[in-house]
Amino acid sequence: MTFSDISDELVGEKGDWEIPGSEDTLSFSGTFLAFSSSRKMIHDSRAHPGGTEKNPIPIMGHDGKPIRCSACRWSEFRLFKEDEKGIGARWPYIIHFTGMSIVPGEHTRFRIVDILTAREVIENLTTRRGGSAYLSVPAARLLAQAAEIDNGPLKEAYDARRVP
Ligand SMILES: [Zn+2]
Repeated sequence: MTFSDISDELVGEKGDWEIPGSEDTLSFSGTFLAFSSSRKMIHDSRAHPGGTEKNPIPIMGHDGKPIRCSACRWSEFRLFKEDEKGIGARWPYIIHFTGMSIVPGEHTRFRIVDILTAREVIENLTTRRGGSAYLSVPAARLLAQAAEIDNGPLKEAYDARRVP
Protein backbone atom coordinates (compact mmCIF):
# COMPACT_ATOMS: atom_id res chain seq x y z
CA MET A 1 0.00 0.00 0.00
CA THR A 2 1.37 3.40 -0.91
CA PHE A 3 0.54 6.57 0.94
CA SER A 4 -1.91 7.81 -1.70
CA ASP A 5 -3.95 4.61 -1.24
CA ILE A 6 -4.81 5.82 2.26
CA SER A 7 -7.97 7.64 1.21
CA ASP A 8 -11.78 7.33 1.20
CA GLU A 9 -11.92 3.57 0.75
CA LEU A 10 -9.87 2.84 3.87
CA VAL A 11 -11.74 5.12 6.26
CA GLY A 12 -12.63 3.15 9.38
CA GLU A 13 -9.88 0.55 8.92
CA LYS A 14 -7.57 -0.46 11.74
CA GLY A 15 -4.03 -1.37 10.91
CA ASP A 16 -0.38 -0.46 10.79
CA TRP A 17 0.26 2.78 8.97
CA GLU A 18 3.27 4.52 7.52
CA ILE A 19 2.85 8.18 6.81
CA PRO A 20 5.41 10.64 5.45
CA GLY A 21 6.33 13.65 7.57
CA SER A 22 8.36 16.74 6.72
CA GLU A 23 11.56 14.80 7.38
CA ASP A 24 10.90 11.25 8.55
CA THR A 25 8.25 8.62 8.06
CA LEU A 26 6.02 7.87 11.03
CA SER A 27 4.93 4.27 11.71
CA PHE A 28 2.19 3.37 14.16
CA SER A 29 -0.83 1.14 14.77
CA GLY A 30 -4.28 2.64 14.90
CA THR A 31 -7.54 3.51 13.18
CA PHE A 32 -7.83 5.63 10.05
CA LEU A 33 -10.66 7.96 11.00
CA ALA A 34 -11.10 10.28 8.05
CA PHE A 35 -9.89 11.60 4.72
CA SER A 36 -10.74 14.72 2.80
CA SER A 37 -9.32 16.72 -0.03
CA SER A 38 -9.85 20.14 -1.56
CA ARG A 39 -8.87 18.85 -4.99
CA LYS A 40 -10.94 19.91 -7.98
CA MET A 41 -10.75 18.01 -11.24
CA ILE A 42 -11.36 21.08 -13.40
CA HIS A 43 -8.88 23.96 -13.59
CA ASP A 44 -10.07 27.42 -12.54
CA SER A 45 -10.40 29.53 -15.67
CA ARG A 46 -9.36 32.73 -13.83
CA ALA A 47 -6.05 31.09 -12.93
CA HIS A 48 -5.50 29.94 -16.49
CA PRO A 49 -6.74 32.72 -18.82
CA GLY A 50 -7.06 31.36 -22.34
CA GLY A 51 -6.85 27.80 -21.07
CA THR A 52 -4.19 25.54 -19.59
CA GLU A 53 -2.38 25.26 -22.93
CA LYS A 54 -1.82 29.01 -23.03
CA ASN A 55 -1.23 29.45 -19.28
CA PRO A 56 -0.30 26.08 -17.79
CA ILE A 57 0.68 27.61 -14.42
CA PRO A 58 -1.77 29.71 -12.36
CA ILE A 59 -1.14 33.39 -13.04
CA MET A 60 -0.55 36.00 -10.32
CA GLY A 61 -3.54 37.86 -8.92
CA HIS A 62 -3.69 41.52 -7.87
CA ASP A 63 -2.45 40.55 -4.40
CA GLY A 64 0.80 39.20 -5.84
CA LYS A 65 -0.12 35.62 -5.07
CA PRO A 66 -1.02 32.96 -7.61
CA ILE A 67 -4.75 32.75 -8.26
CA ARG A 68 -6.09 29.67 -6.54
CA CYS A 69 -6.64 26.64 -8.74
CA SER A 70 -7.51 23.51 -6.78
CA ALA A 71 -6.70 21.30 -9.77
CA CYS A 72 -3.07 22.55 -9.63
CA ARG A 73 -2.57 22.94 -5.88
CA TRP A 74 -4.73 21.34 -3.20
CA SER A 75 -4.72 20.07 0.36
CA GLU A 76 -5.38 16.61 1.70
CA PHE A 77 -6.25 15.88 5.32
CA ARG A 78 -5.95 12.51 7.02
CA LEU A 79 -6.91 11.84 10.61
CA PHE A 80 -5.83 8.81 12.64
CA LYS A 81 -6.27 7.60 16.19
CA GLU A 82 -3.30 5.69 17.48
CA ASP A 83 -3.79 2.54 19.54
CA GLU A 84 -3.04 3.54 23.08
CA LYS A 85 -0.98 0.48 23.79
CA GLY A 86 1.07 0.54 20.59
CA ILE A 87 4.83 0.63 20.83
CA GLY A 88 6.03 4.19 21.17
CA ALA A 89 2.46 5.46 21.36
CA ARG A 90 2.27 9.08 22.44
CA TRP A 91 -0.72 11.18 21.56
CA PRO A 92 -3.81 9.41 20.35
CA TYR A 93 -4.85 11.72 17.49
CA ILE A 94 -2.66 12.29 14.48
CA ILE A 95 -3.56 14.79 11.78
CA HIS A 96 -1.62 14.47 8.56
CA PHE A 97 -1.60 17.40 6.15
CA THR A 98 -0.50 17.17 2.53
CA GLY A 99 0.10 20.23 0.38
CA MET A 100 -0.15 18.78 -3.11
CA SER A 101 1.13 20.53 -6.19
CA ILE A 102 1.38 19.44 -9.78
CA VAL A 103 2.95 22.77 -10.79
CA PRO A 104 6.36 22.08 -12.35
CA GLY A 105 9.18 22.82 -9.91
CA GLU A 106 6.94 22.58 -6.83
CA HIS A 107 7.03 19.69 -4.40
CA THR A 108 4.41 18.01 -2.30
CA ARG A 109 4.75 18.94 1.37
CA PHE A 110 3.78 16.87 4.38
CA ARG A 111 3.11 17.85 7.97
CA ILE A 112 2.17 15.71 10.96
CA VAL A 113 0.55 17.02 14.14
CA ASP A 114 0.14 14.85 17.24
CA ILE A 115 -2.81 15.82 19.38
CA LEU A 116 -3.91 14.76 22.82
CA THR A 117 -7.61 15.55 22.92
CA ALA A 118 -10.58 15.58 20.58
CA ARG A 119 -11.28 19.27 21.19
CA GLU A 120 -7.75 20.14 20.14
CA VAL A 121 -8.30 18.24 16.90
CA ILE A 122 -11.10 20.68 16.11
CA GLU A 123 -9.01 23.62 17.27
CA ASN A 124 -6.20 22.52 15.00
CA LEU A 125 -8.46 22.30 11.96
CA THR A 126 -10.05 25.68 12.63
CA THR A 127 -9.00 28.57 10.41
CA ARG A 128 -8.74 31.97 12.06
CA ARG A 129 -8.66 35.00 9.84
CA GLY A 130 -9.20 38.52 11.08
CA GLY A 131 -11.83 38.23 13.80
CA SER A 132 -13.51 35.13 12.47
CA ALA A 133 -13.00 31.44 13.08
CA TYR A 134 -14.33 28.82 10.74
CA LEU A 135 -13.88 25.29 9.45
CA SER A 136 -12.94 25.01 5.81
CA VAL A 137 -15.10 22.64 3.77
CA PRO A 138 -12.51 19.82 3.77
CA ALA A 139 -11.80 20.32 7.50
CA ALA A 140 -15.50 20.12 8.37
CA ARG A 141 -15.89 17.04 6.21
CA LEU A 142 -12.90 15.40 7.91
CA LEU A 143 -14.37 15.97 11.35
CA ALA A 144 -17.83 14.81 10.33
CA GLN A 145 -16.40 11.52 9.03
CA ALA A 146 -14.25 11.00 12.09
CA ALA A 147 -17.14 11.71 14.48
CA GLU A 148 -19.02 8.86 12.86
CA ILE A 149 -16.28 6.36 13.74
CA ASP A 150 -14.75 7.81 16.90
CA ASN A 151 -18.04 7.66 18.65
CA GLY A 152 -16.70 8.92 21.97
CA PRO A 153 -14.70 12.07 22.60
CA LEU A 154 -14.40 13.22 19.01
CA LYS A 155 -18.13 12.94 18.35
CA GLU A 156 -18.83 14.87 21.54
CA ALA A 157 -16.36 17.57 20.58
CA TYR A 158 -17.74 17.75 17.05
CA ASP A 159 -21.34 18.00 18.22
CA ALA A 160 -20.41 20.70 20.75
CA ARG A 161 -18.27 22.74 18.38
CA ARG A 162 -18.94 26.43 18.25
CA VAL A 163 -17.49 26.95 14.83
CA PRO A 164 -20.39 27.05 12.34
ZN1 LIG B 1 -4.92 24.72 -12.58
